[in-house]
Amino acid sequence: MTLSLRMKLSLAFIFVALISVFMISITANYLLEKQFKQYVMEKQDSKNKEILTLITQQYTGKSTWRADVIQDIGINALETGLIVKVRDASGTVIWDATTHNSGMCDQMISNMRKNMLSRYPNWQGGYVETKYPIVINSKEVGVVEIGYYGPYYFNDSELYFINTLNRALIIVGIISLLLSLVAGSLLSNRLSAPITKVIESAKLIAKGHFSERSSQKSSTKELKELISTINYLAESLETHEKLRKQLTGDVAHELRTPLATIQSHIEAMIDGIWHPSSERLTSIHEEVTRVSKLVGDLGLLAKYEGENLVMNKTRFDISELLQKIVMNFEGKFNAKGVAIGYSGYEEVVNADRDKIAQVFVNLLSNALKYTVPGGKVEFTVESFEEFTKVTVADNGQGIPTEDLPFIFERFYRADKSRNRLTGGAGIGLAIAKSIIDAHHGSIHVNSKIDEGSTFIVFIPKKTD
Ligand code: ADP
Repeated sequence: MTLSLRMKLSLAFIFVALISVFMISITANYLLEKQFKQYVMEKQDSKNKEILTLITQQYTGKSTWRADVIQDIGINALETGLIVKVRDASGTVIWDATTHNSGMCDQMISNMRKNMLSRYPNWQGGYVETKYPIVINSKEVGVVEIGYYGPYYFNDSELYFINTLNRALIIVGIISLLLSLVAGSLLSNRLSAPITKVIESAKLIAKGHFSERSSQKSSTKELKELISTINYLAESLETHEKLRKQLTGDVAHELRTPLATIQSHIEAMIDGIWHPSSERLTSIHEEVTRVSKLVGDLGLLAKYEGENLVMNKTRFDISELLQKIVMNFEGKFNAKGVAIGYSGYEEVVNADRDKIAQVFVNLLSNALKYTVPGGKVEFTVESFEEFTKVTVADNGQGIPTEDLPFIFERFYRADKSRNRLTGGAGIGLAIAKSIIDAHHGSIHVNSKIDEGSTFIVFIPKKTD
């Protein structure tokens, strides 16, 4: 069962609120009752002792008592719910509440019983009597029997107090439950509303509206990240979509020029306007070569970018490979008057040797292409714990900063007019990147216009 985030959060809040209110009520009720019982029992005991003291003071000596005062004490006690009986040392009753007013005694006991049953329906209490000897100068001169409803009882005001307290607890419980419900729904609303909006944006993006951006603001860290990730996703999809459209146009454009040249040349020869001289045929041949190189490059790129790229990984010394490439290029560098330097030690990598060679052939031929005579190109290999770093640095024309983010895209050329002359179609770096990506490595460029470019390749050492 799938529930909305809002529903889940609200349910969680209700659950936590219910549990807390329940726990607080139970604990508070238990502690309160326990303390209150204790208090009532202690109060009872001290009341009994007070009566005993008062009655003891009414002993006038030689077995005589102030009976009238004892009667007052007894009546007072009766009014507070205590049934007092006083006997002298011989057992003769001096005063007895039950003989004084037996109806009132019965009514009181039944009233106490009613009070207790109203609070505790299964109350098992009953009438209890406690005997206190009246001792004067270590001599027992009589005994006070105090009877009441035990083991303890609540009088009307005590019952009212504990019931009010309980009611207050219930009201506080209900209020906190309602408050937590309101807080829960507010919070879940605050969380789910932006997520719903982000989902709407994501759906639009999924439908191809790549210019869609979520303008939601959130103070929640994760939501902020989600919004910026969705926006970043839309941005890169938009860029890719633009590049994809551009690619078709670029392929058409790259093929159109040489094919048009070939077509017009051949038509002119068929119509007898031109003689098929060896220069004209060479020119046609050059255009055909350009087209077939482009098609070959595209095929290579498709192969490297394809998901089923077969990697022939072996362990080999990359320094040795690079030195070989440098040696092969030396002639071309010398012819153009560009110096080439190499520095590095033996460095074993686990990679596809031919494909890695292709990467550095592309980088080196670019460096040669875009460096003017008198310039120099430096090749460096460095070893790090996790990866091998290879740098190809030239002091050539450099790449404009605004072109740097796109330099590894297919058909991307920093300066279109200049590259027409150099003959590149803008595929070399895309091939290099797809090979390095297939090795789980990375390729970067630093460049400044008129100062030169540095291409840095990282090949990870931990490869599967
Ligand atoms: P191309 O076949 O056009 O050289 P690449 O993919 O190899 O295609 O390079 C793409 C673009 O990057 C080039 O057109 C060029 O503008 C720029 N570039 C690549 N390497 C260099 C470099 N070493 N110096 C200056 N610009 C470079």
